[in-house]
Amino acid sequence: MKSIYGKLILGFLVSILFSFSIAGYFSLRKNASELGLLAVEELENSTELIENFIQMIDSEDLDKVLSGYANTSEVSFYVETDGQQSFYGHTAPYQLSAQQTQELQDHIGDSMTLQDSSIRIYAKSFEVNQQEYILCVQKDMSKREMVFLDSAMMAVFCMLIAGSITFLVIADIIVKPISRLTKATNELSKGNYHVRVNYAGNDEIARLNRSFNQMAQQLAKQDETRQQFISDVSHEFQTPLTAIQGFATILKNEKLNDEQRQKYADIILFHSKRLSTLAKNMLQLTLLDGEDVKLEVSEFSLIEQLNRVIETQDNFALSKNIEIEFEIPKNDIRIEADEARLEQVWINLINNAIKYTHDDGVVMIKVKRTSKEVEVSIEDTGVGMSKEAISHIFERFYRQDKSRSVEGNGLGLSIVKRIVDLHQGRIDVVSREEGGSRFTVHLPQNRTFHIGEKLIKKENYS
Ligand code: ADP
Repeated sequence: MKSIYGKLILGFLVSILFSFSIAGYFSLRKNASELGLLAVEELENSTELIENFIQMIDSEDLDKVLSGYANTSEVSFYVETDGQQSFYGHTAPYQLSAQQTQELQDHIGDSMTLQDSSIRIYAKSFEVNQQEYILCVQKDMSKREMVFLDSAMMAVFCMLIAGSITFLVIADIIVKPISRLTKATNELSKGNYHVRVNYAGNDEIARLNRSFNQMAQQLAKQDETRQQFISDVSHEFQTPLTAIQGFATILKNEKLNDEQRQKYADIILFHSKRLSTLAKNMLQLTLLDGEDVKLEVSEFSLIEQLNRVIETQDNFALSKNIEIEFEIPKNDIRIEADEARLEQVWINLINNAIKYTHDDGVVMIKVKRTSKEVEVSIEDTGVGMSKEAISHIFERFYRQDKSRSVEGNGLGLSIVKRIVDLHQGRIDVVSREEGGSRFTVHLPQNRTFHIGEKLIKKENYS
């Protein structure tokens, strides 16, 4: 039974047959006992009537009257007196056994009720004018039983037909939306992420449909992101590759002097470095995105780490005559985190602050410890960002400056965000166009690191 339709129909038939069998069994039993009571009552009345006939009618006319009564009523009977039996009626009469006859003869006025399959029998002994009689009256109840059975069968048949039609309509109401959903799922599996299912109501199927629509919407979004990512990656690779190709071709020209040769080789070097950084950043992001990404947590001095990073950025800052101010707190601040990854966060943020600040500007770094977290802010007096740009800076390959006049690939802040997220921290940005920017990283002090599938609870920083 493969289809849900088939299962529903089978279920319906089984439940109908089961309930009819139980209902039929009990109503047949009840009907049989009621028919029995009715039959006894009728037989008692007939016996009384026949007894009255015998009492009141002359023996010459009695035979005629009794035959007439047997013909018009549904009963058959025999009357026994002085060992002589007279039969009345169409059906062959039930014969009392010698013992039963004897019992009635011994106790005149007694009666007995008997049953022979569907035939009900009532026998009685009585005395009229000092003459003993035994009257045995019977009635065949099979016809009445058949009438009941016929009407019961008719009822079952009508219910089965009406029930089946109703059931098919209901099954259709249930199965149709499921079939629609199956169709939509097939469409989705073929890559059509814009397929949606409509279903009014608030039942389980409506909820299933809503979940399907949400899933399809999510997939559509993911697909769009994936396509955008591929196009961004190709674009980011294409630009330096085209430059390398172009300048390598120029280098082949033998007429170039040494100075020109040097200049073009430097350009090729610059673009190949750019390609290498891009590949490194992409690899880093892929690793950070992995499900089983692990943080290698250790305790270290945050101040020492920041000092180290500032040293590595000193030359870059000097080349633009930018001053880096680091407000070193009185007490050392030690934290527990993934040292190498956190270093990458400060490198990217400080490098950006220098990169997006005009010559002779200032970059300020502050560290603050509150009861719940450690805050590191990196502020610059640089170009700043529009509101629109702020809402996109953590997206991969996003760059405010579309002309790409400043070196970069739009992956630095995505890496920062991912590392901060892994440390269960957050990052705030305050910026104004041409008014400088401030990036603040908040790292919780009482953290639970998510390492692979395991959760490792960390105590407060010391
Ligand atoms: P990029 O390699 O372009 O610097 P990032 O992901 O580091 O990539 O930064 C994304 C974009 O955010 C940058 O292109 C720039 O427009 C903006 N941005 C980042 N840091 C700053 C900053 N300190 N001042 C102004 N704009 C910034």
